[in-house]
Amino acid sequence: MTSARTRDRLVQRLSENGISNPAVLERIRNVPRHLFVDEALASRAYEDTALPIGQGQTISQPWVVALMTQALLPATGNGNGNEPPLRKVLEVGTGCGYQTAVLSPFARQIFTIERLADIQRAARTRLNELGFGNIRYRHGDGFKGWPGQAPFDAILVAAAPAEVPATLLEQLAPGGRLVIPVGPAGQQELLRVTRTPDGLQRELLSQVSFVPLVEGTG
Ligand code: SAH
Repeated sequence: MTSARTRDRLVQRLSENGISNPAVLERIRNVPRHLFVDEALASRAYEDTALPIGQGQTISQPWVVALMTQALLPATGNGNGNEPPLRKVLEVGTGCGYQTAVLSPFARQIFTIERLADIQRAARTRLNELGFGNIRYRHGDGFKGWPGQAPFDAILVAAAPAEVPATLLEQLAPGGRLVIPVGPAGQQELLRVTRTPDGLQRELLSQVSFVPLVEGTG
């Protein structure tokens, strides 16, 4: 159920659905998603679906994780060299830490914020056990970003606000990319906003379904 064949099938499905970056597909093959969900759900870990992780939250669908990762990476430099293609990455909504694990080798450092303390504690323990060393954790409100570490080359938001938060845009480095779902349940759009010399450029990546980005901490 968590075998190489099951993982191959998932990778095959993603590559047929627009995931073209080989390094991203390799990450999806190698990150043990079954260790990020409850044991009772482990047999479904390599299905291309979101699954519950407790407290009304979900682990994102692998296709969405792959799409967001691919959208953050520069067109050249896919993480196979010695130097990761991204320096500082901000992630809002750590959840179970699966997206963080997929991103890890593409960044020198990842700064990840989660508003629910228990969820973040579990993610931190799991990612430490799996040996991920380039991640810093904050229990806080992602609407505020992480001003002390800004600017970021890439910002990934894993829950949907009504509009793109201005604070996050302010924390984007020149050439930096923000990937974020925006809008109410049932009509969310995944956007990529790039800080170019001519200003902020917005692209629509896909229709998506995320849990809401909630203000404050829980
Ligand atoms: N990518 C994650 C899924 C995250 S689900 C994974 O792979 O598991 C979205 C997460 O965002 C939830 O854990 C939720 O608690 C968190 N969240 C919602 N609003 C937030 C906010 N304002 N700041 C930080 N985290 C937030």
